[in-house]
Formats: sequence, C-alpha cells, structure tokens
Amino acid sequence: MMQLTEETRQSILQRLEQAIAPAVFQTWCRNLRFDAVRENVYEVPVPNAFYREWLEREIRDPLEEAFRQIFGRAPQLSFRISDDPETAIVPLEPSSADAPAAPREVPPEPPRPASVPAGAAPLLNPAYTFDTFVVGPTNRVAHAAALSVSENQGYVHNPFFVHGGVGLGKTHLLQAICRAILARNPYARILYLSCESFVNEYIGALQRGRIEAFRQRMRGSDVLVIDDIHFLAGKDSSQEEFFHTFNALHMAQRRVILSSDSGPREIRALKEQLVSRFLGGFEARIDAPTFEMRVAILRKKAEIKRREIPEEVLSFVAASVDTNIRELEGAINKLIAYASLSSRPIDLTLAQETLRDVATAAKQRIGVQKIQEVVSLFYGKRVIDLRSRTWTKSTSRARQVAMFLCKEMTSHSLSEIGSFFGGKDHSTVLYGIGRISAAMTKNEQIRSEVESIRRLLRGNSE
Ligand code: ADP
Ligand code: MG
Repeated sequence: MMQLTEETRQSILQRLEQAIAPAVFQTWCRNLRFDAVRENVYEVPVPNAFYREWLEREIRDPLEEAFRQIFGRAPQLSFRISDDPETAIVPLEPSSADAPAAPREVPPEPPRPASVPAGAAPLLNPAYTFDTFVVGPTNRVAHAAALSVSENQGYVHNPFFVHGGVGLGKTHLLQAICRAILARNPYARILYLSCESFVNEYIGALQRGRIEAFRQRMRGSDVLVIDDIHFLAGKDSSQEEFFHTFNALHMAQRRVILSSDSGPREIRALKEQLVSRFLGGFEARIDAPTFEMRVAILRKKAEIKRREIPEEVLSFVAASVDTNIRELEGAINKLIAYASLSSRPIDLTLAQETLRDVATAAKQRIGVQKIQEVVSLFYGKRVIDLRSRTWTKSTSRARQVAMFLCKEMTSHSLSEIGSFFGGKDHSTVLYGIGRISAAMTKNEQIRSEVESIRRLLRGNSE
C-alpha cells in the first residue's frame, strides 16, 4: 500500500475544499489521507465509525469528484476504520484555521532516498512559500533576512529570530525557509517544530527515561526551527533544556531559527542566558501590514483560489479588516463562500453585506440561533433538523451538543432551550446535556468536537 504524494493529496483536498462549506472542510477533511491499494482504488483511514458514517454521507460525492478532476476517472474509495494515531482527523489548531489552500503550481517535492529520515517536509504547509509571501514595508527586513538565511550555506545570523503579533506571517516565513532549504538540498536535516511540541516531547522523554534520545533528535539536525518560542515563558526546566540544545547546535555551527510573539527582551519570564543568546543573532520584526500590502495579499489569495475579484472589492475588504492577515484571509474566504452559496457574483454589494454580517455577528453575544447554525454546519445537518423532532442517531447527537452549548454559552433556562429545539421539555434537555458532559469526560472524540465548535463560535463572535 502506498500513499499518494503530498502534492497530489493537496490538490485533491484543494478541490474538495472548493466544493464544500469552509468550516466543514477545516474540521473534517483537512487531514484526510488516501492510501492507494491498487490502481484507482483508495482507502481513506478514519478514526471511528462516526466519522466513517459522516464522510460516507456528506463527503463521498464531492471527494470522488475531486479525484475525477485530477485523475480523469472516478476512483473506488472506501473509508476504513484504523487506530493508527496518524489518522486522527485532528481538530485544527486555531492558528491553522484560515490557512490558505495550496497554490496550484507546487514545485515537485525533491526526491528523497529512503535512508534519509523524513525531514520537516510532511509538517510543512505547502502554501507557505516565499512565492506566496507578499512583501512590503512592514515585513521587508524579515523577508530579506529569511531569504538570505535560506540561501546562505555559510554561518550568518544565528539564531535568526523573527517576531511579531498574531497572524502576521511568522509561521509562513519560517516554513518558507524550510522549503527553500529543502529545495536546494533535499538531504538537509531540518527539524521544524512548534515550541509546544518541543516542551511536550521533552516532558514525555523525561517521563519515559528517554532523554538521551530526545537530545540526539534535537541536536542531530543541521537546521532547528522552533515556532512560537515565547511558549517557553515561565517553563524553567524546558528553558534549561533548550539552552543546552541551543548551545550544542551553535557550537557545531548549525543553524537555529526561531519565531516569537515579541522581542527577546519582552518575552516574560525568560532566563537572561536565553535572552542574551537570542540577542546574539539576527532579530527581525514583522509589523501589521499597510493598506497596500493588504490589497496585495488579497489579490494573491484570489489568484491562488482562481477567483476574479474586482479591485474595488479588494480595496473594500482591505480597508475593513486591518487587524491581522489571518483575519484578512478569513474575510475573503467568507466572501468567496457567500458568493458560491448564494450564486451571486463577487461585487461591492455582496462584500458590504458579507462584511456587515461579520461585523454585526461580532457585536452580538453568541445566541441560540448562532449555536444552532454552527453546530448544524459542523455536523452537516440542516438547522431545521435540530429544531424539529427528527430522530436519527447523528441528528440527535448534534442536537444534544447544541443544547449543551446553549446551556454553556447563553443565559437561557433549560425549558427555554427546549423550546428552541422543537419544544422539548426541560428534563429532555437536561438528559441531553448530561449525555454530552458525561461523554466529554470519557470520549476524546466528542471532547474535541465540542472544542472545535466552541472555537468556531468564538471565532465568529470576535
Ligand atoms: P503567525 O505565525 O505570525 O501567527 P501566520 O504565518 O500563520 O502568522 O500567517 C497567518 C496567515 O496569513 C497565513 O495564512 C499566512 O499565509 C498569511 N500571511 C501572513 N503574512 C503574509 C504575507 N506577507 N503574504 C501573504 N500571506 C501572508
Ligand atoms: Mg504562527
């Protein structure tokens, strides 16, 4: 059995993404994998029966269509339950929720002999390359430094330390460096990980008495890239460990690349020894994009998604969203989704309506209706099913989750909540809520579903 190449997989996913609601794609499909069993016969590993049933019902058709577009004929697909942890259709990190789709022309992955341990490539988002990174006054220095770090085989800028606020492109830049290094030298040993993974692996290694293996792994790379290093704040023993990792690599003239939400001096509770190490390299800051950069980013995004979007619309969106680039992408994605849902052209009127919705939804508190909408979208149901007496196992589960969240996020009483769900009485509501809270303590799946929905709701209300 073999997997499709990452690039093929991404193109399939990309087509699927265009065919279904963004939230559904993000939650359910982003991490799908396709194992080629025979020619044109694929297995899609899934973590449990619930997912299988759902994918079978909601995703099979658009997925087959995506395969057909790529390979020119309909595939034979089967969803197979597998306990391989790799198949966890992991609820995304909030930070990746609005990650853009992969660009169409992705350069082929450099060949990689089997004896070379898989590098960072599998963890990298194919959309995060230098090509897709828009440069302007607020990130020019960081971009130029990143390019030179990725090109230069010599020993400059060590560590390269890039910092800036949320959603301004730090992860994008770090991953672009990794890609560029790998494109140049497929054998480069690059270790890319979030600081959180560093800390978790360290703690895990301590607990299992595998600290030597951990150290070898961290020190065995030519390039160590750690994203969001500020996560070390206040974690004394992890800081200590990282300090030794850093010194070992530094002495061996290996490259260290770091990102952080603030400059070395501003990271709270960071040991002075680390602060001075960080200051010893090259530090570049990314600031919020200017209006012109925001327009350029939107234009690029439209290009990647192959959408014609009039300049006036781009300007309007760029003027309305001036916080960070992730939100900018969220806004344009919403606009594209609204346009296809309502089969209307993307014009100024539609943009105004869409963004007004976004703005007013943000001001309202989360209400029952919002919860019903998001939950039904998440589970691929219709709102009307949640509000009616329809009974199927999956509808009933979605309804119970929605009631649970209404209790948690609104101030309605149990019987009021019941009235929003087809006139259920308060004991039925109580029973449903109880089922979900009990399930959440035992069942990782449900817990992560509820958490994803909470995030979607909060994302919508900020
Ligand atoms: P951070 O890691 O700083 O929180 P990310 O790198 O995750 O931010 O960026 C958030 C989103 O904005 C990503 O989808 C990224 O591709 C996009 N983005 C950020 N900066 C740029 C840029 N200069 N040009 C194009 N897209 C960008
Ligand atoms: Mg990031």
